[in-house]
Amino acid sequence: MSKRQTVTPERIAELRAMPYQDYLRTQDWLRRRAVKLEISEYRCQLCNSSEGLQVHHRTYERLGCEKMGDLIVLCKECHALFHERRRLVKARQEANA
Ligand SMILES: [Zn+2]
Ligand SMILES: [Zn+2]
Repeated sequence: MSKRQTVTPERIAELRAMPYQDYLRTQDWLRRRAVKLEISEYRCQLCNSSEGLQVHHRTYERLGCEKMGDLIVLCKECHALFHERRRLVKARQEANA
């Protein structure tokens, strides 16, 4: 097992300040993403596909020091559906507000 990674508060602040697209290219994120993929055995957690895998944030609350439970492995299709559904839910909530 690799030793537990420590992220300094300064580094977290730095990661959170950068554009999300840049964050996705940092070693910090890529390392965490690789761990999540490995834990999930390189399978989409919804449909079990092993193609076009992406790691989705269930919450951005701990951006820069995400817990494994904050993330979910989804294939490209499930990921798109996930965001589409969330968009619809949000639109419905706004319509009802
Ligand atoms: Zn899938
Ligand atoms: Zn996503």
